[in-house]
Amino acid sequence: MELKIGWLYPKLMSTYGDRGNVICLQQRCQWRGIDAAIVPLDRQSEASQFDLVDVIVGGGAQDRQQEIVMRDLQGAKAEKFRGKIDGGTPGVFTCGSPQLLGKYYEPALGQRIDGLGVFDLVTKHPGIDAPRCIGNVVLEITASPLAEELRAILGETPIAIGFENHGGRTYLGNVAPLGKVIKGYGNNGEDGWEGAFYGNAIATYSHGPLLPKNPFIADWLIQTALRHKYQEAISLSKLDDSLALQARKAMFERLDCANLVNTL
Ligand code: GLN
Repeated sequence: MELKIGWLYPKLMSTYGDRGNVICLQQRCQWRGIDAAIVPLDRQSEASQFDLVDVIVGGGAQDRQQEIVMRDLQGAKAEKFRGKIDGGTPGVFTCGSPQLLGKYYEPALGQRIDGLGVFDLVTKHPGIDAPRCIGNVVLEITASPLAEELRAILGETPIAIGFENHGGRTYLGNVAPLGKVIKGYGNNGEDGWEGAFYGNAIATYSHGPLLPKNPFIADWLIQTALRHKYQEAISLSKLDDSLALQARKAMFERLDCANLVNTL
C-alpha cells in the first residue's frame, strides 16, 4: 500500500512548524510498511497535482504569505482542491490554512482575502494592536463522526493538545466545530469552540505540531486516506507511542488537565 501526502505551499505556509504534521504522517506510514511520498502543492504545481494526493496537510503563515498563496490558489487549482475535500479526501489544516479555506480572511492590514469557501467560516483580525491568541490549547474533539472514530482508536474521549498563535478570530457558520475548548482561546476566545470539521477535513488553530502530540489523529488521517483510496476498511498496526503519551501526561499535568485523560 502507498499514500501520497499533499503539502500545501511548503515554502509559504510553514512559519509555525506544521511541517511536523507531514513528517509525522510519513513516518507513521513507513513504520507500518506503507509507502508515503510527499507531493508539494505550491505555486510551481500544476492543478493536476491535486489529483495525485490521498491526504492533504496545510500549515500556518503570516498574513503576507497568506495573501500570496491566495493569489495562486485560484481557478483550476481551487476547483481541484474543493473537489478533493468535497469528495472525502482527508486533511489537516492549521491556522492560516483554514483561514484561507473559509469564506474570507480580513487580515490585520490590507484588503480582505477571499477564501475558497470549503469551510463555512470567516476570520477577522482585530488589528495589529490587538493581543494575539498565544498559548497552549486543550480541546475535547466533539465533531461527529470524527469523535467516535477517534474514540475507537484512542479508547477514550479524544482530548487534543496543541499550541496556538494567531491574531485572526474565526467565527463558524453552518459547519461543525472541531471541538470545545478546555484550555486556551480556540477560534476566537469568545464562543468556546476550536477549529471546524467538514467531510474528512480537520481545521484547527492547534500548532505544536498537532499530530506528533496527538498520534491518534495522525492514525485517523492515515486509515481514512487508505479507506478512501482502496475502498476498504484497513486497520493499522499499533505503534509504540509511549514517548508521546509521556509528553501528553506532562503537558496535561502542567495545564491542570491530568484528570481528563485516563490512558496516561
Ligand atoms: N496570519 C494569521 C493570523 O495571524 C495566521 C497565523 C498562523 O497561521 N499561526 O491569524
